Amino acid sequence: MATPTLSVVVPVYNEEAGLPTLFARLYPALDALGVPYEILFVNDGSRDRSAALLADQFRARPDVTRVVLFNANYGQHMAIIAGFERVRGERVVTLDADLQNPPEEIGKLLAAMDEGADYVGGVRRTREDAWWRRVASRWMNKVRERITHIRMTDQGCMLRAYSREVADAVAASREVSIYIPALAYTFAHRPVEVEVAHEGRAAGESKYSLYKLIRLNFDLVTGFSVLPLQLFSLFGIFVSIASVAVYVIVIAKRILAGDADSLWVIWDRDILQFFLTGMLLFGLGLIGEYVGRIYQQVRERPRYLVQAVLEKRE
Ligand code: UDP
Ligand code: MG
Repeated sequence: MATPTLSVVVPVYNEEAGLPTLFARLYPALDALGVPYEILFVNDGSRDRSAALLADQFRARPDVTRVVLFNANYGQHMAIIAGFERVRGERVVTLDADLQNPPEEIGKLLAAMDEGADYVGGVRRTREDAWWRRVASRWMNKVRERITHIRMTDQGCMLRAYSREVADAVAASREVSIYIPALAYTFAHRPVEVEVAHEGRAAGESKYSLYKLIRLNFDLVTGFSVLPLQLFSLFGIFVSIASVAVYVIVIAKRILAGDADSLWVIWDRDILQFFLTGMLLFGLGLIGEYVGRIYQQVRERPRYLVQAVLEKRE
């Protein structure tokens, strides 16, 4: 077997329903590219038959298939890291297991790399997901664009290609809460984007609950910016200055007009109090998000545990 120049990393979590179709499309698509490749499936602690299906597939195509089996569920991005730590190719492509990223599009990413890019982000031409997810991600994309220096048109698209250097740098980062497309972007020196197709899930259902999506977006924002924290100090400064100013005005008015109450028209202490309490709790929570991540980081636990790796000896 030739040393692969292309490594495809696929995170798998409870995908038994879709895996057979994935195999049926991914291998021919890669064969058609005519470059030596390897596929690294990372089973992220699936509780269904995914691991068994991957093992079968390894036995069917041991020349180009490698399987990493986690002992538990550590999340999609950790699964990809585990793949990045083991890739052998000079180029690394990531792809979802549910066929939402058509494997036939990989050629487009590689073509962009031929032109010198070391990071190719996919941009989904149309997006086949629930409407609330499309709206929410458009919004999160904008927020992230504003407060980090990371420029990505479609942060949620996982069909991406990385040069080996970039993938190695991502794998070497010791971060616990990681958002790979964004982190890789910070290491790339020639990032480009290409349009790719997007399909509805082939089978099974999304592994991201609303809660998981919110957690992921906190990772993205707190991982790349401390602006949210700074906004809070700015807001605090603004509120203090404003309240001192209002106080001065109120007192001045009272002294001048002998208890005129014109300002009371716009003054509702309860509402303001609720607003401030809300902001305070949010701010506290936000600090908690950062502190929690620092806590996870300083514990320095292994980020994931590998139960077994199925691969042919070199
Ligand atoms: N995934 C994973 N671990 C998780 C959740 C998801 O490895 O904890 C994988 C999943 O099997 C799929 C990819 O990550 O290959 C994207 O997940 P999904 O399609 O459920 O996300 P969505 O497309 O709904 O954003
Ligand atoms: Mg999906």
